[in-house]
Amino acid sequence: MKTKPILPGAAIGVLGSGQLGRMFAMAARRMGYRVHTYSPEFDTPTGQVADLEINAAYDDLDRVREFARGVSVVTFEFENVPAATAAAAAEIVPVRPAGTVLHTTQHRLREKTFLRNAGLPVTDFWEIRSLEDLQKSLRGPSILKSADFGYDGKGQYRIQTPEDALEAWAKVGPSPAVLEAFVDFACEVSVVAARSAEGDFVHWGVIENSHRNGILDISAAPARVSKKVALRAVEISRVVLEKLAVAGVLCVEFFVTRSDDLLINELAPRPHNSGHVTFDACVTSQFEQQLRAVCGLPLGSTRFMQPAAMANLLGDVWMSGEPDWSAACAFPDVKVHLYGKLEPRPGRKMGHLTALGCDAENLVTRARAALKRA
Ligand code: AMP
Repeated sequence: MKTKPILPGAAIGVLGSGQLGRMFAMAARRMGYRVHTYSPEFDTPTGQVADLEINAAYDDLDRVREFARGVSVVTFEFENVPAATAAAAAEIVPVRPAGTVLHTTQHRLREKTFLRNAGLPVTDFWEIRSLEDLQKSLRGPSILKSADFGYDGKGQYRIQTPEDALEAWAKVGPSPAVLEAFVDFACEVSVVAARSAEGDFVHWGVIENSHRNGILDISAAPARVSKKVALRAVEISRVVLEKLAVAGVLCVEFFVTRSDDLLINELAPRPHNSGHVTFDACVTSQFEQQLRAVCGLPLGSTRFMQPAAMANLLGDVWMSGEPDWSAACAFPDVKVHLYGKLEPRPGRKMGHLTALGCDAENLVTRARAALKRA
């Protein structure tokens, strides 16, 4: 059945209020929609550009219902919103992607079990509920990850020796946790893709990602992988979106092994940091596509107008004072994106730089280095 489109002029509700919501709101406002955001914070990256910023707890379900009454559809920019919040909103208006997608992807164990049961390639993992479980399951270099609320390498502990295991178990917090075999990958890539409620599927190809301290550092598109790897990554991603029945945008993060096999690391049921390049480089950005998908509009072209690269700006860049913005703007092909966050902290995502063209990765790296004051 065809979904009745939600047309420009309508208000869209966003659960969460970070930079992903901000860029979504910018895309939505450009197309004449209104945006309401809901989160426990105030003066947020999304709130600063939204029509309405609601500042309330996610578990205040009456406020959530009231918020939903003011919009035509609810989406999210942060997958750690409690399932009950999405369910309360869904009593009033459609929530896209559905709360079931949130439920699967906000918990590592559920996510990995879903992937394994779907026959999709995932890193070897074990469910850990006690120190004994951990000691029994250890097979070599591994990573212990908390099952809940993990992102950007948070709640993750590397294990090389039996002593590390004791320490990791003490730190990981309340069980359950997930133990993963350490993958000696050749590179990391992601596929950002979108699916309409009718099942149309589009993607932005394969993006190559490098991380520093567990946090994304640089993304470059297209990824330097073989055509075979690229086709397989896209096909796996199509199956993921199909099996989860996603109406919206979802990113699949992969490890590419040294023998060119793909292993899924994790899923993000929303626009993704690696897809920020699409904002400047593509006919339709991941944010506009999320809007189109959740509003039931036809999906737009994902064509890259040029190769592109993105470098994250973490709070660390501010540590010796306000960055030298004129130095970054002196690179005429580099675009500066800042998220309006007032407090720079180490590891906090404050903005990013994007460059287009064959030399994009080199350009964003040089522009970022120029920001730092001596
Ligand atoms: P995550 O928050 O799970 O995406 O992990 C953040 C980053 O840590 C990944 O992008 C990898 O660079 C690294 N990492 C996570 N899990 C593994 C693993 N099983 N093997 C090797 N590196 C990993």
